[in-house]
Amino acid sequence: MNYRDFDTYLKKFPDKNGYFGEYGGQFLPPELIPAFKEIDDAYEEICHSAQFINELRRIRREFQGRPTPVYHCERLSKHFGKCQIYLKREDLNHTGAHKLNHCMGEGLLAKYMGKKKIIAETGAGQHGVALATAAAYFGLDCDIYMGEVDIAKQHPNVIRMKMLGARVIPVTHGLKTLKEAVDAAFDAYLKEYETSIYCIGSVVGPHPFPKMVRDFQSVIGIEAREQFLEMTGILPDAVTAAVGGGSNSIGMFVPFLADPVDIIGVEPLGRGSGIGDHAASIAYGKKGILHGFESYLLQDENGDPLPVYSIASGLDYPATGPEHAYLHDCGRVQYTSISDDEAMEAFFLLCKYEGIIPAIESAHAVAYAIKYAKEHETGSILACLSGRGDKDIDYVYEKYGCGEQFNL
Ligand SMILES: *Cc1c(COP(=O)(O)O)cnc(C)c1O
Repeated sequence: MNYRDFDTYLKKFPDKNGYFGEYGGQFLPPELIPAFKEIDDAYEEICHSAQFINELRRIRREFQGRPTPVYHCERLSKHFGKCQIYLKREDLNHTGAHKLNHCMGEGLLAKYMGKKKIIAETGAGQHGVALATAAAYFGLDCDIYMGEVDIAKQHPNVIRMKMLGARVIPVTHGLKTLKEAVDAAFDAYLKEYETSIYCIGSVVGPHPFPKMVRDFQSVIGIEAREQFLEMTGILPDAVTAAVGGGSNSIGMFVPFLADPVDIIGVEPLGRGSGIGDHAASIAYGKKGILHGFESYLLQDENGDPLPVYSIASGLDYPATGPEHAYLHDCGRVQYTSISDDEAMEAFFLLCKYEGIIPAIESAHAVAYAIKYAKEHETGSILACLSGRGDKDIDYVYEKYGCGEQFNL
């Protein structure tokens, strides 16, 4: 399908059961079905309410600092030739990444539903910090489940969550990382769903989360499209973003689906294509079920998720959002992958040519934009810079110094 088929896309996808074509849905223990129905009903009502929309707009402007700018990378573009690279600066959103876009939406929904507490899991801690921020803003309790291994690795984010007033609850069974934390958060939600709400960290999980998180994140692409048109008078030739669970990318892509613009999602290739060396679930996965939804999944012959790896801890998830699976299969969005080393070279290029330290996740999108600029004589590419790299500098310095090896 091409862009002409996407005029009425948002009205049709997902369908009322949460399906994007054959992907998505809601695979839940029976006890949780009423809780998710309550969230679905509340969201359907609220997303059309002028009061909710106006309050969210005010929060975005006054608390988050939106709109974030679109920035023309003149020096970087010139370094590679004539194709122009632009960035949507989600690193300038409050807390330094796009995740707050949906956390503030979910927090506002919790408030409208009369809930007292937000429950979630976190891996590297980025989702936990954004959610703890939203909980503090709305005066809600916040319980974040986190594997003991991750707690030890991500000390600064654990401190941030606690300073913001959240409870960080260690998960001590199994491998003590993200998967166990998801299970623990679901168990807790099962016991407290009447007074609490579960909030997911990306466009994944059971319906209505992939839809809700997409809607909240679409502010990225809506703003960027308008800003780019205003800056240049035309649309970009291509739009790109890094795909972990898929939230910053879907937010960037959806407002461009009906435009004559190439759209490219970038998956993490890590150390290479071997099992356990990457997290490129569309490139190497196949259809399966994880965490309550159906999508592309890196899985073994029993359907269990395979180990994944990326230098960017926000990208190392063995599946991707169901809407990406659909957009891949129908051909509207192309998916490609970028290795650790390519991402790190782009990280240092952006530092040295533009004065921006990107999150390593976002550096994957920048790396693809650079690749595109090298291959095109003219035109433009707009990449989503999903977050800033302050969180990554200690790790980067330890492994790569200040980038001397790249001879930039
Ligand atoms: C979490 C994170 C990502 C990956 O998540 P998506 O849901 O795929 O957007 C990308 N960039 C940053 C900065 C993140 O914190």
